Amino acid sequence: MIRLEDGRVIPSILYYHRVAPDISPHVGVTPEMFERQMRFLKKLEIKGVTVADGLNGSDPQKTCILTFDDGYLDNFEYAAPILEDLGFRATIFCLSACLGSLSAWTDDPLWKGIPLMATEEIRELSGRGFEIGSHTRSHCDLGRTSREDPLRVRREIFDSRTELEDILGRPVTAFCYPYGSLSPESVDWVREAGYTSARSVRRNRIGRMYDPFMLPCRPVSGRMSPVRFSAYALAARMGL
Ligand SMILES: [Zn+2]
Repeated sequence: MIRLEDGRVIPSILYYHRVAPDISPHVGVTPEMFERQMRFLKKLEIKGVTVADGLNGSDPQKTCILTFDDGYLDNFEYAAPILEDLGFRATIFCLSACLGSLSAWTDDPLWKGIPLMATEEIRELSGRGFEIGSHTRSHCDLGRTSREDPLRVRREIFDSRTELEDILGRPVTAFCYPYGSLSPESVDWVREAGYTSARSVRRNRIGRMYDPFMLPCRPVSGRMSPVRFSAYALAARMGL
């Protein structure tokens, strides 16, 4: 679990990218592996929940916040049905200016040209109880861009929220920093834009207190052994 500076205690956060068959273990997990991991949580009586539910008083020893970055179409195709079968939900951080397109913010062939969910899919998932959060408009490196073009940083943070809210017809309150990159101004703007939390890519350290706009997480990749995943899950249950 995660202790916040304001006294709240919230569930641990797992962090995924893609879930697809025949996927490189560097970018995600296969549906079989994902299902095994989720069933393991269920066996421990740990429920996968959204950021919103995790922040709103769910028992941190009996829940685990599940997050997905970038909004890949495979989250809709493979991850969502597995989660729903177990009664779980998750938060998916999407890019409001990239919906329905192919990932293009990197030249790394492992990450480039991957289909992203379109407005129809995020609207449908939102209707099915999943939370859509903002990951900026275009996967902006907020730390670097803060020095070069601060106005763009502001737009990436503020406009992604309003654009997603226009599509979903409901408030968007969770934010996630692309690349985990941020600046002091960008954190202030996330707060000012009306989000209630932001996830970083920093690891959760036992005994530390966290700002809700700098939430730590535990990344899960296809390279992670079942033993390591079990350790994550057991730690969450023990309140670590
Ligand atoms: Zn990302």
